[in-house]
Amino acid sequence: MSIQFYNTLSNKKEKFIPINDQDVKIYLCGPTVYDFLHIGNFRGAITYNLLRNWMEYSGLKVTMVYNYTDVDDKIIKRANAEGVDSTVISERFIKEFEKDFSDLGLRKHDHNPKVTDYIPQIIEFVETLVKNEKAYVVEGEVFYHIDSFENYGKLSGKKLDELEAGTRVDVDKRKKSPFDFVLWKPSKENEPSWDSPWGKGRPGWHIECSAMIKSILGETIDIHGGGIDLIFPHHENEIAQGEGCNCKTYCNYWIHNEFISLGDSEKMSKSLGNVITMRSFNEKYHPEILKYLYLSAHYRSRLVVSDDKIEQTIGALDRIYSSLSLARNVMADVEGSAEPDKDFVKTLESLDGKIKKSLDDDLNSAEFISFVFEAVRSFNSLGFRSKKWNEVHKANSNAFFNWMKKYGEMSALFSENPDKIIERFDDILISLKDIDRKTVESLVDQRNKAREDKDWVRSDELRDELAAMNIELFDGHARGWRVKRA
Ligand code: AMP
Ligand code: ZN
Repeated sequence: MSIQFYNTLSNKKEKFIPINDQDVKIYLCGPTVYDFLHIGNFRGAITYNLLRNWMEYSGLKVTMVYNYTDVDDKIIKRANAEGVDSTVISERFIKEFEKDFSDLGLRKHDHNPKVTDYIPQIIEFVETLVKNEKAYVVEGEVFYHIDSFENYGKLSGKKLDELEAGTRVDVDKRKKSPFDFVLWKPSKENEPSWDSPWGKGRPGWHIECSAMIKSILGETIDIHGGGIDLIFPHHENEIAQGEGCNCKTYCNYWIHNEFISLGDSEKMSKSLGNVITMRSFNEKYHPEILKYLYLSAHYRSRLVVSDDKIEQTIGALDRIYSSLSLARNVMADVEGSAEPDKDFVKTLESLDGKIKKSLDDDLNSAEFISFVFEAVRSFNSLGFRSKKWNEVHKANSNAFFNWMKKYGEMSALFSENPDKIIERFDDILISLKDIDRKTVESLVDQRNKAREDKDWVRSDELRDELAAMNIELFDGHARGWRVKRA
């Protein structure tokens, strides 16, 4: 096996060597369930979906955990505002998340633990940290003492003395050092609470992932991920907790995705108010567009989502789906069988090799997508234009279709009904470009009439008028027209 990843821990690409060659353990930090998620939140899930499938295709078995943070200030705030229990809020938004996730057609994770189901394990974990002198108790509150963990900062590269020099004076005086963080805290009135050796309270944020990892996957895992905002403090603190408790390496490879943003903003986030929810994206556009857009860039590069990008993505997907539609038509039309064109088969095999190299190399999905496009181009050049299709055309279509299916399953792409999605693309472009459908239909009718009357001058005029509105006349569509593709 020749997979390598860029490991945030070493800041370089490293060959991936699983702890146990039968079973790879992956944990991805999941969402806080207090509202609908935005499209940026799904970059990790879409990336890790391909990563997991690629590993399994390469012969590994993967156990994948993605958690729900269902105890949190934001959940409590919303619950109090609505006058309901915080589980009402968290359960509502877990359901909404699951709907988005299912609309995206991503593979289910092996485990989706909720914090509220792991309170005894969290308490036991914190007790071990206190026993190991990594944590201390003050007035029913338990803090992790970061000075007691000599490797603190190994993931983010932050040095304790630099961190402390930058802290303001209003730190909690009960802390031994300013960056000590909360493992367990007393609950206020109207907050969820559980009995613990330190009184009624609730867990701090960071401890949940360490405790759930230990319970579900074990003391050391292969891969841990999330967005780059989680490197510090969340993942740094997870390492301090995991290694402080188990006295073993917590995780071997840390894989972080860059941000998704809109326009000039640094990062799409709810607090900045510059978000598109996954739900509204799916309603306005189509999940396929988001998946393709994300995978066309490397997960470690920042990606700006804009109308232009969406339009370009539609153009690319349209070409792919048009070829898939053609392949289906040819397969349905031609009887008999034959061997596919040898050169075409060779091209597909050589693209297999190139894709392997790209995905092995830090999951370079951008290259992967470009090779899928090469296959599409190569397929389109196999002489389908004349429509005199024979058994070889059919065999080529079959080979292409199956090749696309294999990579489509891996990346959660290319499995929509081609004709339906192409029609949907048209509707999206009509609304993106603010095209008045009624005017277009009337002009197309007039043109058809002009052609019937053999009034070629008028017919050409109308075609030009439509072209100026970004409409092209298109025999392949029942309507006879479509929006020009990027
Ligand atoms: P949160 O619910 O804020 O903890 O976020 C859930 C996941 O989404 C985390 O892995 C974050 O790092 C990730 N995330 C949040 N905002 C963005 C963004 N704009 N682009 C990419 N990932 C993000
Ligand atoms: Zn986490």
